[in-house]
Amino acid sequence: MKRDVRLAKTLLAAVMISVSAATGWQLWTSREQTLAAADTNNLNLAQALNIYAEGIFTQSDMLLQGVTETLKADGHPHAHLQRVQSLVERQKRLLDPLDGVAVLDARGDWLIYSKGQVPPGTNSAHRPYFVHHRDTRSNDVLISPPLRNPFTGEWGITVSRRLEDDKGQFAGVVVIGLGLQNFLRAFGTIALPDTGTIGLSTNTGQMLVLYPYREKYVGLDFSKSVNFQRHFSGTSGTASFRSSVDGTKRLYAFRKSDRYPVLTTVAVGRDQALQAWRHQALLTLAVVGALLTAVAAVGWKLIINIGRRIRAEASLMAAREDLLQANRRLEILATQDPLTGLANRRSFDEVLAQESRRAAREGTALSLLLLDLDYFKSFNDAYGHVAGDQCLRAVAMALRRSIRRPGDLVARYGGEELAIVLPSTGLQGARKVAELMLEQVRALGITHSESPHGQVTVSIGVATLQDPQSHAPEQRLVEAADAALYKAKQGGRNCWVSQEEWVAG
Ligand code: GH3
Ligand code: MG
Ligand code: MG
Repeated sequence: MKRDVRLAKTLLAAVMISVSAATGWQLWTSREQTLAAADTNNLNLAQALNIYAEGIFTQSDMLLQGVTETLKADGHPHAHLQRVQSLVERQKRLLDPLDGVAVLDARGDWLIYSKGQVPPGTNSAHRPYFVHHRDTRSNDVLISPPLRNPFTGEWGITVSRRLEDDKGQFAGVVVIGLGLQNFLRAFGTIALPDTGTIGLSTNTGQMLVLYPYREKYVGLDFSKSVNFQRHFSGTSGTASFRSSVDGTKRLYAFRKSDRYPVLTTVAVGRDQALQAWRHQALLTLAVVGALLTAVAAVGWKLIINIGRRIRAEASLMAAREDLLQANRRLEILATQDPLTGLANRRSFDEVLAQESRRAAREGTALSLLLLDLDYFKSFNDAYGHVAGDQCLRAVAMALRRSIRRPGDLVARYGGEELAIVLPSTGLQGARKVAELMLEQVRALGITHSESPHGQVTVSIGVATLQDPQSHAPEQRLVEAADAALYKAKQGGRNCWVSQEEWVAG
């Protein structure tokens, strides 16, 4: 029964745990899927923006080559200026972020500027791109970190090439300025969440453009950043980390250009990327939580009911057991003599009738001893009734000790008379039992000053059922035993007499 309650509790707990686990697992996988989808979107966008950036740098490179070629043609510097200007005008439509093109001589002095007259003495010898080209003998295109335009003061990126004379000596630099604002305008057309960023930087971690624009982020150097070193290796990939710039946790995707040393990054705030998922998760948790609470409440109520039923059944069982015990006590009371603990008269009558029927049925013998305490009235008179009762009890115990077979019965017939039913016992056996009982009582040695024997003795009448088939044979058996007892009394007591000659009828 208690096992039922335990089983119900285990079952309820198992349902709760498995539903919670399944919900948790489902929420976790959908979260992972949401993050994976955000990563894929970011990566696609980074890829597209990389193509855009590559296009701009390719156009810039072509323009640089065009200007270099133009400068090689003979002619007056003024004619060069016009040719360069018309080249720039043609390219401008193809190259959105183009700000201007300048040609610097070997000392860094500005020779030509596509936007017009150069103030005399304008020199950029100190600029990093100039220093690089002067000191590096390479025809590669250089993309430099943001610089301010010396005339407008606006931020821009430079794309530059080294110029050489016929002898291969450094002859100056041709440089293109790409306005930062133009890049930002292009990036601004892309729909991004509030926390989203788009970045264009050099492979070495020099930030070129970062959208949304903040002046303080211009020219940031990430080259030493742990995040940059750890997460932005390889050609492309995704990562999730806390921005060292503004402390926001973001999902990053990056793509490096195959042709230029630049890197495009797209990032969205992790919290924002998970916002839709979080709403869904909260809804799911609320519904599952409500369901689980209902299941738990109903389940618990059922368990309590089962417990109650079990307790009710247990108390019913206990009541039944009490009743059975009371009945058993009643049965004993109904069949037992309270003074001696022997079977009472009622019980004796039943057993005798039963045994005489059995004897008739099976053809077995049945004997009866009737036993009477000698001079018991005077015993009571001499020692009192309490001592008389004790004496009766002692004799009853001694008689009970004398019988051997389980079927034998010692009963109180009435007063100080006792009866012994001996099933399957013939006269000879009954005599032996009578003799044994006489001895047992004598052996008690209870003093009886009023008796001629000086101690408590008994007289016994022995009878055996001769004709079990006759009418009321047990009654005749009792009469026969009684008659024998009478003879024993007459014969001086403290002896047994058997009614040998007794014949039924
Ligand atoms: P006899 O040898 O002829 O049997 O003489 P007796 O005195 O035993 O016989 P009698 O029938 O005259 O007296 C029986 C006495 O047994 C009467 C009563 O005082 C006593 N007696 C009967 N039942 C009980 C009992 O339950 N307790 C006590 N203490 N005495 C009892
Ligand atoms: Mg008597
Ligand atoms: Mg007597």
